[in-house]
Amino acid sequence: MKLPNFDGSQLCAQVDPELFFPERGDNTISKVAKAICAECPFKKPCAEYALHFEIRGIWGGTSEQDRNVLARKRGITRRVVVSLDMIKEPSETPAAQAKRRARARKQSSAQGAA
Ligand code: SF4
Repeated sequence: MKLPNFDGSQLCAQVDPELFFPERGDNTISKVAKAICAECPFKKPCAEYALHFEIRGIWGGTSEQDRNVLARKRGITRRVVVSLDMIKEPSETPAAQAKRRARARKQSSAQGAA
């Protein structure tokens, strides 16, 4: 199971990535993230990918709890992220990409101002 080929058009790359990592029980933020996912062209492959790994956050309109239920229903054994390679891949979530880009933009504008 590979990470979908995110090309920058994923909607979470255009909003605050923190929306996709709500605190446990924060249903308001989860609903906002899920509504964004509902309009995203990557919704299906994103949800399918996340269903196979034990990873945090909202992916493809599903929460960790949603994925636990779905995985049980479909008999999917979710992979625990244990190796460095696996950590590398899930850490580069669409939201993580957006966060990294925002940090780089901030740095470059700070350097431009200096
Ligand atoms: S988490 Fe997945 S489905 Fe949701 S906006 Fe990002 S890429 Fe799209």
